[in-house]
Amino acid sequence: MKVDENLIKKYSKTGPRYTSYPPATFFDENFSNFDFEKKIIQSNDENPQNISVYIHIPFCPQICHFCGCTTESGFTKPFLERYVDAVIKEITYVSKLINKNRKLTQIHWGGGTPNAISYKYIERITNKLYEVFDFSQNYEMAIECNPAHLEFRHIELLKKFGFNRISVGIQDFRDDVLNAINRKPSKHPVDDIIKKIKDEGFTGTNIDLVYGLPLQTVDSFKKTVEKAIDLNTERIVTFSYAHVPSVLPRQKILEKIGCKIKTVNLKYTSLGVSAYQVVAPAECSSNLSRFDGVRYGHRSDNSSDLENLYRESRSEGFGKEVKRRILVGTYALSAGYYDAYYLKAQKVRNLIANDFRDAFDQVDLIIGPTTPDKAFKIGEKMNDPIAMYLSDVYTVSTNLAGLPAMSIPMGFKENMPLGLQIIGNHFDEKNILKISHLYQQETDWHKREPGK
Ligand code: SF4
Repeated sequence: MKVDENLIKKYSKTGPRYTSYPPATFFDENFSNFDFEKKIIQSNDENPQNISVYIHIPFCPQICHFCGCTTESGFTKPFLERYVDAVIKEITYVSKLINKNRKLTQIHWGGGTPNAISYKYIERITNKLYEVFDFSQNYEMAIECNPAHLEFRHIELLKKFGFNRISVGIQDFRDDVLNAINRKPSKHPVDDIIKKIKDEGFTGTNIDLVYGLPLQTVDSFKKTVEKAIDLNTERIVTFSYAHVPSVLPRQKILEKIGCKIKTVNLKYTSLGVSAYQVVAPAECSSNLSRFDGVRYGHRSDNSSDLENLYRESRSEGFGKEVKRRILVGTYALSAGYYDAYYLKAQKVRNLIANDFRDAFDQVDLIIGPTTPDKAFKIGEKMNDPIAMYLSDVYTVSTNLAGLPAMSIPMGFKENMPLGLQIIGNHFDEKNILKISHLYQQETDWHKREPGK
């Protein structure tokens, strides 16, 4: 992909955000149907003469939490049929006002998720367009596709219907980010989808990305962009996440229960797991030393002398994870390593606690995910303790800072729950419980059984 640097410099400034033309800021309730017809008829004498058509399909099988579009889920077949009939009626009505010599050069299908409706509807609408408009030889017909619902045979069908550009809504390549925004990952590897689109002879392919989403970092989004570049598509489009709860009810649950949202930066959170994996095992090693089979805990029947009694009782009485922690902790606390590990981890702990203290100067509660992914099954990660420890990235910092927190269900992925962590300042359990209760009055994820 070639990028014109002058173009980047030219447009590297702030401007209005719009996804429609004319933008919503130009909409006017006094603009009547008569005005609309007049404008179309007037345009017949204007240049350029070519026509562009936008087909809007405002339906999605599942609503992404970040979405700023006006879209609906849970649509039924009769409802969709009525909508498609209305679109066809509109095409017929508008086409009658347009001079027959005008060429149709651009057709864009957006939404919603146009590729999630039955392809027979897509065919009906495109057939109508062919019937009433004269397509230019170099027309471009594009469709926005959510890869979660895109099969290879769909790409073949779109080609057959005359589409020549596909815009693939990736948003982010990371499953945990998609999960956090209630979006399904791609049904097939994105590389294979892009290859199929190219093999079918589409002349244009876009990749759409969104930045500013939960769990994304500058570094992770950089990797997403690099991966998108590697796919070698014609265009890559990036949108910023717009948090506009005033117009989008789905972004509103927290606002609805009386919260004012403010973003805070906890810059040392990423060091939490490393610090915790030194501090917590050190505490384990020291606290559990009293479980020696004499004063506390299990006592082995297979001991011959005192030293043997300690060894056998502790070997038999502790599980694998406890032994792992005792060994790590004993190492970190031993002479010669104390400064390098335990002391350093305590310093990081201070930085994390200060981070939270500064944040609580600005807000009353901190709300975010409990884990980077859905709940895993019992024992699923027993053989991969590092993966298990990394799942704690959002909770261990809270522990290190000595703060109260609570995790409540905030959605499901593959039938397993996702957690919302509510962190309060010292001794502010009251507000954590209050917000959790209010949140659960507005949602019913806590009533759903995992695995069903
Ligand atoms: S699929 Fe697209 S239009 Fe539908 S909810 Fe997600 S982001 Fe919005």
